[in-house]
Amino acid sequence: MTTDIQTELKQAVERRRNFAIISHPDAGKTTLTEKLLLYGGAIHQAGAVKARRTQRKATSDWMAMEQQRGISITSTVLQFDYNNYQINLLDTPGHQDFSEDTYRTLAAADNAVMLIDAAKGLEPQTRKLFEVCKMRSLPIFTFINKLDRPGREPLESIDEIEQELGLQTYAVNWPIGMGDRFKGIFDRRQQAIHLFERRAHGSQQAEERVISLGDPKIEEYLDRDLYYQLKEDLELLGELGGELDLEAVHAGQMTPVFFGSAMTNFGVRLFLEAFLEYALKPGGRNSSLGVLDPIYPEFTGFVFKLQANMDPKHRDRVAFIRVCTGKFEKDMTVNHARTGKTIRLSRPQKLFAQDRESIETAYPGDVIGLNNPGVFAIGDTIYNGKKLEYEGIPCFSPELFAYLKNPNPSKFKQFQKGIQELREEGAVQIMYSMDDFKRDPILAAVGQLQFEVVQFRMQNEYGVETTIEPLPYNLARWVAGGWDAIEKAGRIFNTLTVKDNWGRPVLLFKNEWNLQQVKEDHPELQLNAIAPVG
Ligand code: GDP
Repeated sequence: MTTDIQTELKQAVERRRNFAIISHPDAGKTTLTEKLLLYGGAIHQAGAVKARRTQRKATSDWMAMEQQRGISITSTVLQFDYNNYQINLLDTPGHQDFSEDTYRTLAAADNAVMLIDAAKGLEPQTRKLFEVCKMRSLPIFTFINKLDRPGREPLESIDEIEQELGLQTYAVNWPIGMGDRFKGIFDRRQQAIHLFERRAHGSQQAEERVISLGDPKIEEYLDRDLYYQLKEDLELLGELGGELDLEAVHAGQMTPVFFGSAMTNFGVRLFLEAFLEYALKPGGRNSSLGVLDPIYPEFTGFVFKLQANMDPKHRDRVAFIRVCTGKFEKDMTVNHARTGKTIRLSRPQKLFAQDRESIETAYPGDVIGLNNPGVFAIGDTIYNGKKLEYEGIPCFSPELFAYLKNPNPSKFKQFQKGIQELREEGAVQIMYSMDDFKRDPILAAVGQLQFEVVQFRMQNEYGVETTIEPLPYNLARWVAGGWDAIEKAGRIFNTLTVKDNWGRPVLLFKNEWNLQQVKEDHPELQLNAIAPVG
């Protein structure tokens, strides 16, 4: 029996690849996602993802904000097949104000795709998200996008990644020309040139013409100067040396680099096929029982994200669970590590954009959505078999802080309930001041829109009209050594001491300079930008 299930799990794991895209807004994440789905046959015409989004906007009421601002706050999981692989794309919110959600999603991902605009290079949001990937040693695959427009020289892009992110690179393919003169891509795997044909926005899969380097007509296809440029570039790449070292890729030390143009579909298929070959399959995860292999026969998983009200008709919450080991089956009963309760997992959902399709089974590397009647919090473990807990999901330093006030005392209960639920869901971090007698909770967020979402939902779901009083701080650091360390240090100027939800001390600083000053004055204090898991 055990061997049967292990064979089944092994096969399921072998064919699964799971990833999230990290990028700065406008680099082309929506476009690339759509093109990947197009190649995966999950949609037949590009534009469908946006069309669904528009449909959803038309039906969603609580996120009237999404509509007003034309942004997408929610994120989902897209599952599709390609060449017998099952791909799980963990979609992340497009707007940087919700990057806390992206941090958590990266905790459920096995691989990351770093998408870069060829003209802009590394941008702030990409750098931030890269740090999170680095912390988890995630394999990173780089796609340099928008080659159909004028951009930086490919060597410059590669150099920037090496110098500034400290990653080794290996160019899997190489662009020929750029902008108006973009002629195609040289694939170093097959040693062949894929010629670019300009089409209107690439709503269908591109048909590519492939020629070899030795083709007698090559100078005609490429223009003479670009052909010589390519030869020179390839020689240079050869001289720079380096092989694709998959071990280094899997350890997050080397990134395979791809060039292309998502809008015109060019290079997308080449990227997808190489990615599937090189990416990590779902692997072992650290738990209180040690590293558990995905073929461990009991079902286990953890909650990495909670989302409210995806269906406006039922004001429910969906818990997103990453399956880590074993096989998930509909209606199975599991243990909830934090509370010791037993829960029946009914109404599981697979999520494709806004459609909810009920699922019967899921395997390691998959994500399932469960209706959450207030049971789950971010980081919770569910398991069968021996009791265990996965490492939780850490909090990252918020950058904006404000008191949330309830001016109406008769709404006290609703206010408290709302704060607690929004905190559990991870909509915002909640802290409390230790320095003054204000009892109002402090909202600690990554972006301004998180405040607006909290206020909007307090009003809509809990019937409490709130006000916001901004605080002049921009950085948070958790103090290692806890309250003793804070007490020893005594009064620290220009900071606010707060406690986080687990009662741990956090110092808020006005700016980087202020933080440096405190570090100099108090070398004994260890300040962490990432919270230990509560
Ligand atoms: P996101 O914010 O990262 O999701 O970016 P989008 O996918 O919405 O793309 C931002 C803009 O860049 C849109 O106007 C896209 O049409 C455009 N875009 C995306 N990929 C390409 C590309 O390969 N070439 C060009 N020229 N434009 C692109």
